[in-house]
Amino acid sequence: MAERCLVTGGAGFVGSHLCDRLLADGHEVVAIDDFFTGARDNVAHLEGDRRFRLVEHDVTVPLPELGGRFGRIFNLACPASPPQYQKDPVFTLRTSFLGAMHALERGQSDGARVLHASTSEVYGDPQVHPQNEGYWGYVNPVGPRACYDEGKRAAEALCVSYRDSRGVEVRIARIFNTYGPRMNEADGRVVSNFVVQALRGEPITIYGNGEQTRSFCYVSDLVDGVVRLMDHPEPLGPVNLGNPGEFTIEELAREVLRQTGSASDLVHRELPQDDPQRRRPDITLAHEKLGYEPRVTLSEGLEPTIAWFRERLER
Ligand code: NAD
Ligand code: UDP
Repeated sequence: MAERCLVTGGAGFVGSHLCDRLLADGHEVVAIDDFFTGARDNVAHLEGDRRFRLVEHDVTVPLPELGGRFGRIFNLACPASPPQYQKDPVFTLRTSFLGAMHALERGQSDGARVLHASTSEVYGDPQVHPQNEGYWGYVNPVGPRACYDEGKRAAEALCVSYRDSRGVEVRIARIFNTYGPRMNEADGRVVSNFVVQALRGEPITIYGNGEQTRSFCYVSDLVDGVVRLMDHPEPLGPVNLGNPGEFTIEELAREVLRQTGSASDLVHRELPQDDPQRRRPDITLAHEKLGYEPRVTLSEGLEPTIAWFRERLER
């Protein structure tokens, strides 16, 4: 059934791909964004579509009326890259908590289903590997990542509180590292940094010894999981979404060099405080309940990502 959807953070990297998918599925979409890390450019191709509307709005402020009731609310607004979310930690905490609260309030008044974009960062620097949804995490509540990690944890608590005490239908997606076209080239996350550095022939900056791991999910696979989770008829509690293929950061750097054909050097920089050592999602729950199965391998997903950045840098 076609729904009227609200996507907060809709001009961001993941948000813009989600808008594309929702429109392709026949829904109407209102995207709101304050352009803190997102850009109008990411959704410029949707401008001619009468089922799409972009509204500039900061989610720390209660939502405006936006032309009527929503059936589905996707709450994605929040800077997601460490250098971005650390720029103004108070803003990050306010966005995470107040943004979720305003989405949930609207969900309650509209009778809408609300999906909240949470993160693998709720597991912190995990002592359990791979991470499943039953693990409570290992987070430094006063470290440099706390504004994001604890903000997202508080937002999860808010989601289940609105579910249990106010009857809002919530869905919580714990998203693991996702990459693809439309990442901001100055965003600071590892895939965009390495690809841009390789294409410019600049040194590839590996933080620490490069043996820390991440599991990288291509954006179309992630969006597919988000849509499946929103569509699922029953509440499931938090659900991990990501690709379990696990790589060291050095392996990622070498794959980027191979695919770009770049002669960039690998250089080492200091490892940021509290940088998680290992990360891999256990996606059993998403697989069994949602039929979720990421299909794009890292080497396959880097191809369109590199092509997109190459085109952008040449422009
Ligand atoms: P992004 O930075 O590209 O997108 C975030 C969007 O939110 C941007 O368009 C930004 O301008 C907007 N925004 C930030 N603060 C806002 C505010 N106060 N009001 C309105 N808009 C605001 O990041 P992304 O990778 O697309 O992440 C989207 C969501 O997914 C975030 O909530 C993030 O925490 C979550 N997530 C992403 C990843 C990933 O690897 N991409 C992993 C885990 C969780
Ligand atoms: N990283 C790196 N070089 C960079 C950017 C990041 O080695 O230029 C490392 C970072 O220290 C971390 C991993 O890559 O171990 C993933 O970092 P990112 O900021 O992409 O995401 P997160 O740490 O939030 O998973």
